[in-house]
Amino acid sequence: MFPDLAEQLRAREQQGLRRFRQVVESPQASHITIDGRNYLAFSSNDYLGLANHPDLIQSACVGAKQYGVGAGASHLINGHSAAHHILEDVLAQFTGFPKALLFSTGYMANIGVVTALVGREDAIIADKLNHASLNDAALLSRAKFIRFPHLDLTALEQHLAASSARRKLVISDAVFSMEGDIAPIKQLIALCEKYHALLVLDDAHGFGVLGEKGRGSLFLPDSDYVHSPNIVYMATLGKAAGVFGAFVAAQVDVIETLIQSARSYIYTTATPPLLSHVLLTSLKLIEQDEWRRDALLRNIAQLKNGLQSLSWKLLPSTTPIQPLLVGESTEAVRISERLREQGILVPAIRPPTVPQGMARLRISLSAAHQLRDIRRLTQALNELALDS
Ligand SMILES: *Cc1c(COP(=O)(O)O)cnc(C)c1O
Repeated sequence: MFPDLAEQLRAREQQGLRRFRQVVESPQASHITIDGRNYLAFSSNDYLGLANHPDLIQSACVGAKQYGVGAGASHLINGHSAAHHILEDVLAQFTGFPKALLFSTGYMANIGVVTALVGREDAIIADKLNHASLNDAALLSRAKFIRFPHLDLTALEQHLAASSARRKLVISDAVFSMEGDIAPIKQLIALCEKYHALLVLDDAHGFGVLGEKGRGSLFLPDSDYVHSPNIVYMATLGKAAGVFGAFVAAQVDVIETLIQSARSYIYTTATPPLLSHVLLTSLKLIEQDEWRRDALLRNIAQLKNGLQSLSWKLLPSTTPIQPLLVGESTEAVRISERLREQGILVPAIRPPTVPQGMARLRISLSAAHQLRDIRRLTQALNELALDS
């Protein structure tokens, strides 16, 4: 059957593009065990170090006793538990929106939001470096799909002005997942208001990390715009929040529309209610533990400082995603492998995920990293740079 599959796989292998899964034997943390060996990891999205927090583990046990394990059905049949409902209220309040809706994953949230809000007569205008899930969603929606150069507000405005579509949806990552830079949110909202467009803002990497009390990118210092009715806010709960899932927060009519017609919400089993119970504890820690965000900032500063004199340069990022631009794919892979031999995990990101000649090491920092961990990475990179 499909004999060309084997051929394709071989070609992929020969181009050095075959991907492998590594089996992690320990909980997710700054140090993880793979094949019995301990590694210092700069590769997870557990930015606050919550994925293995004892309070969350305890909440999981309590939640399992109170709600059982499986949701048993989809939200619109009888899988919508009190645990889900309470969490939605807390998330709406925490992010400053009238309503919030839980999805099983961020991927599914993006698919659901975009396909429920726009169709054939509509237009999507999206940043070129948006996450794959947003691009998949745009294609699935059948709306006209226009992509503008990364962060280019002039191009965005030209497309908005020229469009005669029934509905216009602007889509952007808040923090770009391969660059670590932050979208010009204030200007995006102003343009959406001017042209009667909605802005879908994907804050997968900002929620819990950025803004006052970790409320996300909309709560960064100059945020006098958070209550714009033109925002549809999406964030994941499997990254900084340390658990699993995602949510969308928006105006009541938007959320009600999603409940009625987002297919990735309707036609799937609700997540285990115990996870929502755990997330209540996670949100408390996100709000209370300012020291986690302080530790992250300290780690980011320490990394930048330690890599200053390197010929490879960090991209200008103020977030825990700190990409080190290497250029050639082979070189990025070589550095990643050398680090791995020394027990340090930093993934090499290559085309087609990033443009040709822009291969990089994607260093993800966590509040759980100690200063000595950062030092170990910067020393290793400085030594590797000497003999390359
Ligand atoms: C991780 C990620 C998603 C997908 O979220 P999951 O909950 O992992 O499915 C969506 N958007 C962005 C920008 C992401 O980084």
